[in-house]
Parts: sequence; C-alpha cells; structure tokens
Amino acid sequence: MRFSPQKPSLFGETLDSLTGQLEAADFKGFRAKQIMDWLYKKRVDSWDGMTNLPKDLRAWLDASFILYPTAPVIDKRSDDVTQKLLLELEDKSLIETVLIRAPQKGVGQEDSRKTVCVSIQVGCAYGCKFCASGLAGFRRNLMTAEVVSQLMHICRREDAHTERARAELASFDNIVFMGMGEPLANYDTLVRTVRILNAEWGLNFGARRITVSTSGLAPQILQLAEEGVAVRLAISLHGATNAVRDQIMPVNKRYPLETLIPAAKAFQQRHGRMLTLEFILIEGVNDSLDQARELTKIAHELHAHVNCIPYNTVAGLPWKRPSIRRQDAFVDVLRKAKVSCTIRREKGHDIEAACGQLRLKTEENRAKAV
Ligand code: SAH
Ligand code: SF4
Repeated sequence: MRFSPQKPSLFGETLDSLTGQLEAADFKGFRAKQIMDWLYKKRVDSWDGMTNLPKDLRAWLDASFILYPTAPVIDKRSDDVTQKLLLELEDKSLIETVLIRAPQKGVGQEDSRKTVCVSIQVGCAYGCKFCASGLAGFRRNLMTAEVVSQLMHICRREDAHTERARAELASFDNIVFMGMGEPLANYDTLVRTVRILNAEWGLNFGARRITVSTSGLAPQILQLAEEGVAVRLAISLHGATNAVRDQIMPVNKRYPLETLIPAAKAFQQRHGRMLTLEFILIEGVNDSLDQARELTKIAHELHAHVNCIPYNTVAGLPWKRPSIRRQDAFVDVLRKAKVSCTIRREKGHDIEAACGQLRLKTEENRAKAV
C-alpha cells in the first residue's frame, strides 16, 4: 500500500532539495541552511518559531510543507530506564519509538548512554514466527520524514534534561533500527534517513553510532556495503543452521546461510568493523549446545560479536525463554571458544526486549483504538 500525504514534511528534505525548491519559488537559496538550523539545531516546532525568516517565506513554507508528520498520542516514561513514544501518522497508523537509558557504573543518570530504537515500516512482511511485528502483517513503508521525525520528537523531549541541547548536539548517543519493520526492505528511505541524520546541516549524528538490524536480506546487505554510509550492521541470526532458521524465519528460504554469510562477510570486510549477530534464545528451538557450537563457527568466520537475547514473550505465541541455567550453558560454549558475547537479562536495559514490548504495546493500543 502506498501512502500519499497532503503536503510533504520538511523532515524529508535534504539541504539540496530544499535549496532547489526555494530558488524555484524565487527565494534565496541560502535560506535553506537557516531553515535546517531551525529544524535540527534549535529544534523549533512552528514556522513562527523561525524568527530570522521573512514573513513571506514563512507563509510559503506553511503552504508547501508540514513540519511533523507524526503526532505523539502517548508519551510514557514508564521508569527511569525506558521511555516510549506512541506516534500517530497522517493515515492514523500507529508506530512506537523507544528511548532506552543504560546507566553506567559510577556515572550519574544525566551521563548515562541513551539509545533510540526507531521503526521503519508499519508492520513487517517477513513473518518471523516469534515476532509481534510479523504477526501483525505488513501495512506500508514509512517515509523518510516519518523516520527522521521519530528521532526529532525524542530529541526535543530530551533537550529539556540535557546540556547537549545548548551545544546543538543530539540529546542521545545511539540509534538502532530495531523497532517495527525490516530496514533493508525500505532501503531508499533508510539510506536517505541516515544521510539526513549524518549531515552537518542535519542532526550531525555519526553513522558509526547508527545500527541497522536485518533479518538477512543478502542483496541489500551487499548494496549497503557499497553505499558509502558507515553504519553498523546487526544480523538477526536466531538459528545457526538452515534447519533451525527455516523453522522460525521464512526469509531463510530465500537467503539461506550459504548466501547470507558471504554477504555479511563482504560487509564486514568493506567496513573493517565488527558485525553483531543477534540470537534470541527460544526454549527447545535454538538453545541446544549443538546450535551454540555452530554459532561459534559463524561468529569466528564473520569476526562478529554475538548478542544473546532471552526470548521476550509475545501474547498469542507459543515460545518461551529458556531457564537461566540453559542460557548460561549456551553462552559458556561461546565464551570458551573465545567468541565475544553478551547476554542481556535486565528487561529495562535490554534494547531488543524493549523493542519487542514496543510492538506489543502498539498492537494493544491499536486494538483499543478500534
Ligand atoms: N527486522 C529487523 C529489525 C527489527 S527486529 C530484524 O529482524 O533484525 C529487531 C530485533 O528484535 C531483531 O533481532 C528481532 O529478531 C528481535 N525480536 C523480535 N521479536 C522478539 C522477541 N519476542 N523477543 C526478543 N527479541 C525479539
Ligand atoms: Fe520483521 Fe524483524 Fe520481526 Fe522478522 S524479526 S518479522 S524481519 S521485524
């Protein structure tokens, strides 16, 4: 389904595209940089807030664009660790954006690391058997402005609590594309969004602090390797053999491990940085010691860090997380083989779990809304 908004949002424009449109409407091209400053550095939420622009230009902006294409319906700081923002789009679809704080030992709350988890589609077409987004089916791709504005909402909310706002820096440390949807299936939007976030005239946010998580779209992994955006890549592996992956991830039929692993390797070699392999531990599905041994081989081959994530229960799905003992035994195999590996246990600190909850929450709210 394609969605055509009434007016485009300014958050979908680049400095070049806006300059071109200003000049075509007989305004000075240099105004584009001033407008971007209002959006990304001073972070205003109205045309009138753009005080150094002439009135006729503000009127033209108002007639040509909207500012935010997403409107917060719930803004819930559930605890000190996560903050969830439920956003409504112009077509009434709902998406959620999550901010996760990971306080560090000996460091005050203000200085804790903040990661924003964004959505890139409404629903997801890939149908992984364990995932709430897959359950909900696919509605549509998000547009660039809908993705960028998720981050700007969070940024503006955090500005009040941080010194960084005064220095015109983003008020969070990392961005992960781990919310709803498959980033590599909305490829052009992903790349345009990263370029806007990365640009000096934009959020000036380093691509190295952006992680794209994919269920394994091999051709797009190869394309992204050559795209010239230095994002980090996380592969949702969740099975170390085709037999296990086939059971839970339909995408594996199209891009089995013998296709996916060389693509991931090409990305790793092009960028020279560690990949992350995400591995949700699901009881009786992928948590055997044999799987751990196979995973070890893949991690060594790809020079990858493994992030084990105990499965986060989804209502209506039969899967369970393994016992702590079984989780430990799995991780032990990896550690003994000198694989760099983490396992997250605390719910609130767990980006992936928070994003899992994010989807659930979204669906619940949708159901309540009808
Ligand atoms: N489509 C992309 C990005 C979104 S999913 C992908 O699949 O990578 C982000 C992460 O959350 C993925 O690793 C996904 O497998 C994981 N995830 C999905 N459902 C989950 C659940 N119930 N518990 C824990 N992690 C889950
Ligand atoms: Fe889609 Fe990722 Fe969920 Fe699979 S895990 S259904 S690819 S969002």
